Amino acid sequence: MGADGRNSVVRDCADLKVENVGASMDSVQVRLSKHPDDPKLFLYSDRGKTIVTIDRGDYWHCGFAVPKGTAEKMRARGIKDLRASIVEVAPFLRDRVTELRDWSDVKLLTVRADRLRKWYRLGLLCIGDAAHAMSPVGGVGINLAIQDSVAAASSLAEPLRKGTVSSDHLAKIQRRRSFPTSLTQHMQAIIQKQVWRGLDKPQAARPPWALRQLERTTLPCRMRTRFIAVGFPPRAREDPRRLQMKDCPVLCSMIRRCICNYAPQGAISG
Ligand SMILES: Cc1cc2nc3c(=O)[nH]c(=O)nc-3n(C[C@H](O)[C@H](O)[C@H](O)COP(=O)(O)OP(=O)(O)OC[C@H]3O[C@@H](n4cnc5c(N)ncnc54)[C@H](O)[C@@H]3O)c2cc1C
Repeated sequence: MGADGRNSVVRDCADLKVENVGASMDSVQVRLSKHPDDPKLFLYSDRGKTIVTIDRGDYWHCGFAVPKGTAEKMRARGIKDLRASIVEVAPFLRDRVTELRDWSDVKLLTVRADRLRKWYRLGLLCIGDAAHAMSPVGGVGINLAIQDSVAAASSLAEPLRKGTVSSDHLAKIQRRRSFPTSLTQHMQAIIQKQVWRGLDKPQAARPPWALRQLERTTLPCRMRTRFIAVGFPPRAREDPRRLQMKDCPVLCSMIRRCICNYAPQGAISG
């Protein structure tokens, strides 16, 4: 099983063909302290600058999006420039950006968005980012990885036990998971394009007219929440809790760990 993430060694060694689906950004990650009266918003985006603030209890885990390949230039401009950029888009952080003393307080995460043409070879199946590296847009990559593992466990438990796994079993898993994966990557690309549209524009960015109209109704809100929390169908139908440890111990324990980690935030589907 290749489940070693977006820099998968397994998929490289297996010589599986990768299709790049475009990731025009990287993410600069920083930690800033949280104050009780801070706004509860998750995403701030304006004039081509975007920052997400993830509530980690006593601090904000911030991801500042930068166009791909520009992190070095940003570094050359110095830490003060990064602080100013953060304040520009999320002014409430003004009183604490000095917590970023130098670049050792900053981590650059390279974003990749791609997918394998074929997720398997006889004896090997790639799932999660190893099969389809997801961009951070929407925070849905974990959901897809978990859903892949549930689909794999459900389809392979019995044949693994009997020792009858064939390429057909593996192809079936790819068929089942390809549609939600490519649709999600497509949505991520559209959202990413929207975010970068304001790049280099001096005036404040405004969402497009159609989006503003949609925001006035409750349906798109519900659709968006569903997309983030559950993803697109078809999802794994089987309840992983019904899988027996003896059927497939490694996959079962992976899934159970994921459920324990993510279920409280409601970020998992059946
Ligand atoms: C900057 C950034 C922010 C993101 N933010 C979010 C978010 O907020 N929410 C969200 O849902 N998704 C997010 N994503 C996407 C998400 O991280 C991935 O889609 C998801 O983690 C994929 O899960 P995975 O199990 O396939 O891979 P990973 O989570 O990457 O897990 C792979 C595991 O394999 C291990 N591994 C790697 N190589 C080896 C090796 N050679 N030997 C042994 N072990 C190895 C790693 O240590 C790791 O534990 C983000 C992505 C990026 C780039």
